[in-house]
Amino acid sequence: MIIVLRPDSTSEQIDHVVQRITELGLKPHMSRGELRTIIGVIGDENKLQAEPLQAIPGVEQVLPILKPFKLASREFSRGDSVVAVGKVKIGGGHMAQIAGPCAIENAPVLDEIAGHIKKAGANILRGGAFKPRTSPYSFQGLGEEGLKILRDMGNKHDMPVVTEIMDIRQIALVDRYADMFQIGARNMQNFDLLKEIGQTRRAVLLKRGMSATVKDMLMSAEYVLAEGNPNVVLCERGVRSFEDSTRNMLDMSAVPNVKSMSHLPIIVDPSHATGRPDLIPSMAFAAVAAGADGVHIEVHSCPEKALSDGPQALLPKQYAELMERVRRLAEVVGKTF
Ligand code: PEP
Ligand code: MN
Repeated sequence: MIIVLRPDSTSEQIDHVVQRITELGLKPHMSRGELRTIIGVIGDENKLQAEPLQAIPGVEQVLPILKPFKLASREFSRGDSVVAVGKVKIGGGHMAQIAGPCAIENAPVLDEIAGHIKKAGANILRGGAFKPRTSPYSFQGLGEEGLKILRDMGNKHDMPVVTEIMDIRQIALVDRYADMFQIGARNMQNFDLLKEIGQTRRAVLLKRGMSATVKDMLMSAEYVLAEGNPNVVLCERGVRSFEDSTRNMLDMSAVPNVKSMSHLPIIVDPSHATGRPDLIPSMAFAAVAAGADGVHIEVHSCPEKALSDGPQALLPKQYAELMERVRRLAEVVGKTF
């Protein structure tokens, strides 16, 4: 349920509404816009009768939210949310250009890649320290040593850093080094992880599960939001399909689809979506044209030696050419980075 307050409602009136909601054992979530305040009420709505609430001074309207996701819905927040990651803003016309290797391998390699991508226009450095590999015999990531390298290179090249977190036991550790938590496709419905991350206030990059619907993705975002962390950025990274000439099938319609239903920013990862460097540039342009709030691209200075996802990595030079064109397209659609 959403309670819309009158533009002239006083803070005493707002406090009173909040108090009534809490008395009923429900959770209020405030959204203070420029013109009015909206309170999202989470919990068993049967406990709330719309009519008596409408009688409270300062309340303009009480509306049911018919969608299963509530705090993530457009009804809850009409404007586009802007998520801050260090100095970088994502959403509301600001684009995230996230780039880096799949895995953090060692300091010199990450230093070289970070230098190139920064020059090309990237504004967030990525790299995995805990890797969700299909085979237990594949490189699993450097763990804390990798996180330290990522932090150092983020500082050196003046970019905030994002890295994947796979387990609630890693939260405190990753929180010490990263500016943004990545929840990967394989963990999109790890509800315990989502709830724990919701307890922090760190920005979250929530990737679409490989067989998740757009609604499933928004419900996962809702888990984080419902715990009080509003800093969620969604990421379309393709879904499994019958098509086998690409790694996954990129669902570009997810971008305007999410935008119509939710205020949360959404970016696109053409690297994992296609698995093919030859397709990444066109899919990155398509993402920007579709309204995405950024792109997420894997880059490696020597893909043939990469310890993870080498075949899909762009070379720094290819990334620089791509970003040059992405920048021009971003201008056309009225976005900046
Ligand atoms: C990654 O970003 O390296 C990754 C493993 O992504 P996804 O979870 O989308 O497969
Ligand atoms: Mn990868």
